[in-house]
Amino acid sequence: PVPTGPALKFVEEFITNNSIAIFSKSWCPWCSKAKEVFNSHGLKYGVIELDLDENGANIQQALKYISGQKTVPNIYINNRHIGGYSELYPIFETGVLDDVCSGGQIDFEYDLVIIGGGSGGLAAAREASGFGKKVALCDFVVPSPLGTKWGLGGTCVNVGCIPKKLMHRASQIRNDMSDALDFGWEFNKEGVAHNWEKMVTQVQSYIKSLNFGYRKMLMENNVKYFNAFGSFVDKHTLKLKTDTTESIISARNFIIATGGRPKYPDIPGAKQFCITSDDLFSMKHRPGKVLVVGASYVALECAGFLNGLGYDTSVMVRSILLRGFDQQMAEKIEEHMISCGVKFIKNTVPTSFKKNDKTGAITTLGETNGKKTFSGAFDTILLAVGREACTAKLNLEGIGVKIHPTSKRIIVDEKERTSVPTIFAIGDVADEKPELTPVAIQAGKLLAMRLYNMSTQLMDYKNVPTSVFTPCEYGCVGFTEAEAITKHGEAKIDVYHQEFAYLEGVITEKAPKSYAKLIVLKEEKDELVIGAHIFCPNAGEIIQGFALGIRMGAKKKDFDDLVGIHPTVAEVFTTLTITKSSGKSAGATGC
Ligand code: FAD
Repeated sequence: PVPTGPALKFVEEFITNNSIAIFSKSWCPWCSKAKEVFNSHGLKYGVIELDLDENGANIQQALKYISGQKTVPNIYINNRHIGGYSELYPIFETGVLDDVCSGGQIDFEYDLVIIGGGSGGLAAAREASGFGKKVALCDFVVPSPLGTKWGLGGTCVNVGCIPKKLMHRASQIRNDMSDALDFGWEFNKEGVAHNWEKMVTQVQSYIKSLNFGYRKMLMENNVKYFNAFGSFVDKHTLKLKTDTTESIISARNFIIATGGRPKYPDIPGAKQFCITSDDLFSMKHRPGKVLVVGASYVALECAGFLNGLGYDTSVMVRSILLRGFDQQMAEKIEEHMISCGVKFIKNTVPTSFKKNDKTGAITTLGETNGKKTFSGAFDTILLAVGREACTAKLNLEGIGVKIHPTSKRIIVDEKERTSVPTIFAIGDVADEKPELTPVAIQAGKLLAMRLYNMSTQLMDYKNVPTSVFTPCEYGCVGFTEAEAITKHGEAKIDVYHQEFAYLEGVITEKAPKSYAKLIVLKEEKDELVIGAHIFCPNAGEIIQGFALGIRMGAKKKDFDDLVGIHPTVAEVFTTLTITKSSGKSAGATGC
């Protein structure tokens, strides 16, 4: 029924006279939340508490007639009916509240456009489209200086985790074959050879199937895919450029998920003659004698599998190995790689690369503290000196998105918001976040859930487990020893540790000594475990499970109370009794 009396006029006037009008009930938690949203933006609003107003019931009746909504809060902005808290929330969360309040445009061609089709971008696209949003994604691979290109899926799939792990496996098979002889298998070892070209073909064909799978996934989820390079025109407009075309699209929100690419040192011959991880996994010819420059996990993993596949491999290191990782574990990796035949050229940086056109060999000169100390010829130089974020050509400065002056990565808050409230950044391109595939995926998924599904869950960047896939793997979660000491002080921490021989290795006598340690806060009841580290075969598989315990706040006593699975490597974490502070030896013992 059409309401009668003054209520209708009152409601109409209240909505007209207040640019933000809230019809509320004083006890209603959603009404309080709505007011908090406006307060947090310093926006003034008019409010009617219907339960406190003697005419409240009539006003609510009139309001229902005008807006079609019976519940509170019932919100109007600039005479436009917004709805309740669940309609206000996405306006707030997607960063367009100020635009709505100042009468700016909020409806665009797309709800969301994602720049970058790697781990993070694809996860965000799938999740956002699942909430019924109109989503587009653009992805474009700028060829490496040597011309290597690849398909949809980003670094992990094409030039990162996937080919790396498969080649790591290929090199491990050589060890398995050598162990096989000790376990009684008989075959002619001399007749065994590795075919690099076959391995690359197999790996690349698997990658192509993944590229196809991602395109299909986008199609099935109604995500519009542009194989084009994106750069901002303004905060709601993106230019899409292919080799031959240029177009423009607009969106309410953008997620930047452009990842990173390998850095090149600024020295003669680096871009002409050297490869990076962008080129290695699809390289058509055998690497031959290799120099890996760098000491990151990418450098050591590649050096490990190249050496394992039978290529003479040296690693040139400027200072320490695996910066940011636990340095005791880094030493164990180095010792083992040396025992496998990898040569380390320490405290040295390359100064020039020059190719001999007749032999194809690349002469590398290097220096230590400004003095020429190194000269060597190699068939392949793999540069692994770090990665730089893909931010340079996005016109971020032009639209006010702040980047870190040194890292060039995008500065984001705990909600992955950049300095422009409608633009977000996730994955490797976001500053100070672990550069790992599952981190990018999780951040993308949670961001979409916050934007479009009223979720308040933030990405938890603490206790992210990871693994280094060197010939003997290293898995870790939580604090390194150095970080634990810096954060809590040496007196407050202790380290339980054990060196051990894993059973499958004892017959061959070539197996590395494994090692595990738990870092604990000893003053906490039952000793809170704040770091777990293990150096052993399949360390990644082991640490994944224990990471759950540490994330859930496991104490050392929980590890002790856990019954081990015998005989496994992982059971070592259930039997650690020797602390570093005791001074007792943690040397390998029996079974
Ligand atoms: P990416 O996957 O890099 O995707 C970004 C995409 O955006 C790319 O396709 C890029 O071409 C595209 N792009 C860039 N600029 C534009 C633009 N302007 N317009 C359109 N498209 C653009 N992580 C692990 O967790 N485990 C591992 O074992 C592991 N191993 C690795 C091994 C190597 C050799 C490397 C290099 C990395 C490895 N990583 C590993 C890291 C992992 O690959 C990255 O953390 C992850 O891929 C980051 O995902 P992302 O979505 O942020 O970016």
